[in-house]
Amino acid sequence: PDIPRSSSSLQPPKLPPGSFRPKQSLGQNFLTDQNTINNIVSAFAKDASLPSASSSSPPPKMVELGPGPGALTNVLVARYGAPALTCVEIDPRAVSILRASFPGLSVRHADVLRVEYPLLNAALAGEQPLAVIGNLPYYITSQILFALADASHADAVRCATVTMQREVGDRLVAGTSTKDYGILSVVFQLYADVRMHFRIPNTVFYPKPKVESALMGLKFVGAKELRRRLRGARPKDLQRVVKACFGQRRKVIRNTLKGMMRGEFGEGEVTEKIGALGELGAKRPEELGWREFVEVTRGIYGVEE
Ligand code: SAM
Repeated sequence: PDIPRSSSSLQPPKLPPGSFRPKQSLGQNFLTDQNTINNIVSAFAKDASLPSASSSSPPPKMVELGPGPGALTNVLVARYGAPALTCVEIDPRAVSILRASFPGLSVRHADVLRVEYPLLNAALAGEQPLAVIGNLPYYITSQILFALADASHADAVRCATVTMQREVGDRLVAGTSTKDYGILSVVFQLYADVRMHFRIPNTVFYPKPKVESALMGLKFVGAKELRRRLRGARPKDLQRVVKACFGQRRKVIRNTLKGMMRGEFGEGEVTEKIGALGELGAKRPEELGWREFVEVTRGIYGVEE
């Protein structure tokens, strides 16, 4: 984030009410624009199919990652009530503010990367998978996304409506043979229906981050559909194959995969498996969608019963 370095930096910064001095090391860029905040919560309501205030059916348990002093929390509590929401925040200053401002709200002073979503959902007695929202700390965006995808395999998370650097959002939704297409595109298009809700200019944050942001919606396909898509391939094997192939983006995949397999299989087996890839082996990784990567993974590592 841009901390002003001109002489005006001698003035105390203007903080949103109820806030505190942001820490760059924690990726703290607070939302300051009420319109943007309302639009994020409305997109979340759509992704999570949340019932309207007048509906009698109970909403799913909601989890907010990195609530900070509570810009989104405020709207979530007003719309859905404190008991529906659990917040996970690492900064003790934010935790104190949230606990004082929102009686009845569960605020966990914890690292989001240590959250075990299936356990959390069980602890909350959630009857459906969790609905996750957050203006994420950008220094750990990918790690948070992969953890959410993992939890979706166990049907612990149904959707995530989260802000991120626009560049990362572009990669999530990129189509094959485009410059943004890569590991994130393959993996998240396999695990979820992904969309970019809208772009967010840096001017609505304090302090202003250097990069543009985007609000992304990930609706995870669920454990059953994921099993159907993987056709016995293991997610870990698939990620390994995808990572190896995009590690050498310009090469046709059979050359990359030969190298990857040499440490794991005998020479005869490597030749046989590469041969069995047929025409797929002569493609570059950016030409392959998740279906083709599933096919390749099955060919190399076999299928789980
Ligand atoms: N939701 C607030 C808003 O929109 O104004 C704050 C968003 S700020 C971009 C990211 C928040 O994540 C900060 O409050 C920061 O303290 C918190 N955070 C950073 N790293 C974290 C971690 N590992 N675990 C939990 N929270 C973290």
